[in-house]
Parts: sequence; C-alpha cells; structure tokens
Amino acid sequence: MLTLLRNAAVHAPAPLGLVDLLVAGERIVQLGPALPALPAAYDVHEVDLGGARVIPGLVDGHAHVTGGGGEAGVHTRVPAPTLTQWTRAGITSVVGTLGTDAETRGMAELLAQVRALRHEGMSAWCWTGGYHLPPRTFTGSLRGDIVHLEAVIGVGELAISDHRSSQPTLDELARAASEAHVAGLLTGKAGVLHLHVGNGARGLSQLAALLDATELPPRVFMPTHVNRRRALFEEAIALAQRGCTVDVTAFPVDEGEDAWHAADALERWWRAGAPRDRITVSTDAGGTLPHFDAQGNVVSYGVGDPASLLATIATLVARGHALADVLPPFTSTPAAHLRLVRKGTIAVGMDADLVVLDDACAARHVLARGRWHVRDGETVVRGTFERG
Ligand SMILES: [Zn+2]
Repeated sequence: MLTLLRNAAVHAPAPLGLVDLLVAGERIVQLGPALPALPAAYDVHEVDLGGARVIPGLVDGHAHVTGGGGEAGVHTRVPAPTLTQWTRAGITSVVGTLGTDAETRGMAELLAQVRALRHEGMSAWCWTGGYHLPPRTFTGSLRGDIVHLEAVIGVGELAISDHRSSQPTLDELARAASEAHVAGLLTGKAGVLHLHVGNGARGLSQLAALLDATELPPRVFMPTHVNRRRALFEEAIALAQRGCTVDVTAFPVDEGEDAWHAADALERWWRAGAPRDRITVSTDAGGTLPHFDAQGNVVSYGVGDPASLLATIATLVARGHALADVLPPFTSTPAAHLRLVRKGTIAVGMDADLVVLDDACAARHVLARGRWHVRDGETVVRGTFERG
C-alpha cells in the first residue's frame, strides 16, 4: 500500500513549502520536493494535490466517544458519534472520557469504543475515572488502569468547581494527581490529571494551591473548559505561566455570554503573551453542553460537535492568522502533551494522518493511518452501522 501525494503545501504545522509525501502502510516514509517516481511494479497510488494545503490530522484530547450527557434525565444520554462525524471533521486522533454519568456508563464501554474506533481506522485512547471520586476504574485503581490498560493515558475528566462534581478536597485531588503522575512515570504515557472545570467561583484556585502544596510537576494538571468564563480564562493564563497546559472547548458562545469562543480565547492567549505551547483545543463532542439555573436545573443544552475544531481553525485563518500559527493547539501541542507519539506532526516516521484542506478550510481529503477516509469531501470509509 503506497500512496504518493504530489504538490502538497504541507503545514507540519511549520510550513514546509510545496513537497511530495510518500505514504507506506500507516506511515509517512518520505517527504521532500519532487520525489523521484517509483517503479510501476510497486503499484503506487499517485495523487497530484495541485498545491492544496495539507495539515496533520487533528488531535481531539477531550471527547465523549461513547456519548455523554444525561444531566436532564436518561433520555438526554447522547448517542456515540459515528466514525464519519470524526473523519469528515478532520479528526484522526481522539481521547475519550466518561462524563457526569459514570453510573449508566463505565470504563468497559469506553475501552470497547476506543477499540471500535481503532478497528474502523482512527487512533483513539481514553482517560480513566470520570467526573467523580471515588473514581470509576476498570482495574480498581487509577494507577492500575493507566499502567495495565494500553489505551488509558491519564485520569479524567475529574470535575472541580462545579455543582456536578464530587466536591473533591485538596488532599483528594493531590492523591488523584499523584496516581496519574506515578503511572505516567511507570509507562511513558501522559500521566496527566485532566480536570473538568465548571462555572463555580472557585475556578482554578485548587490547582494553584496544589502547585504550592505538593511536589507534583505542573504538567500533571491539565484543566479543560477554561474558556467558559472570562475570569476563569485569566486564571488559566496565570496557571500556564506556572507550567500547566490548559485546554479550551470549541463550544458555541452566544452573543453577550460571559465566555470566550475558542477562536477568541486563542487570540486572547496570544495577545497576552501566554506560552503558545501550553494551550490546546478540544471538542467535548458527544457530550451535552448544558446551561443550569441557580438551583442546578438544566435550562438548555446542546451537544459538542466534532466539526467545531476545523470551524475554529477556519475562523482564525479568515481573521488573518497564518495557518502555521493557528495549528499547534489542534495538532502538535496536544500530541506532545498527551505523549501520543507519531501524532500531530507531519514528518518522516510519523503516522500518515493527513487532512487536505479546501479553500474554505474544510476537509477535502482525509487520510487516517494511511487510509483514505474522505475523498473530495465524500466519506469513503464508514462506521460499521453507518449507511452508504
Ligand atoms: Zn467536562
């Protein structure tokens, strides 16, 4: 299985100019200007991209791959997103998580869905534990799940500053973070404590206190949804200055809402001179995006959408940002922080996860692990239960 992509304007994310890419099996094996033709006997599938922009497959570090939700009753449990919802959106790597509901859902289902997505051609991993303490695990401990289960890369999404959380104390958070960190040391995995941050006024104060009170390195603490309140986002900037990597969610933001859209959050981050390599963007796809009243009742909700990442990239490019500057929070930064080797960058030896953009920054072609999933905007590989 050899594929030769000619005349690709590769953004690796760094711009490499017009190059050819040779893909063998699941990997990129050669990359450079005007690669020589291969002997016909090799049966090479050659495609001239005519100077189209090629970016790494997007890395979504926070998604409800089994479907999440359920905060307004069992009928609000969200179905699992299908394979083509990810691939059409240019997402080739995803990290799944349990959410508020770890009662009707659990780690066995999450692990099975990770394997299903891999079988269908994507790359997938997961967090262990869910929202609450004591955590939902498969082996009986957070550390055990990370050490013994190949697909588990860290602990999450453990909820803080939210009425839906288990109201974890500082000591409990320190213990959960230590399990993630030690398991990371034992395995070479991310070993990150990925924290759901709610709308509560406590914000990130517990994480700041943990940096003061423990020996745990800042990279272990990775809060998400930090763009849901504007003041919270300023706390996130301060936390990143201390060495943490933070994640923003590409959810829709209404006019006048006290939140930053992911595109606005990134611009705010860059303008503030915050560390460019310590912010990532994820979808929360398959999860509900509920709004609650003061008594904790759901007043409205939407569902996280895989398409929100490419849409955010398109927004930023339309505002005049260079594609190479926009890409890292969606590709190389999450891959590096989550230690997903061979992901997030286009280079020889990396997995052939490639998205060819059209003029509007939508996915014209998508290759995942060397296989064409989207061609000319059409899905050519579909999930097991998706109709053609
Ligand atoms: Zn969350």
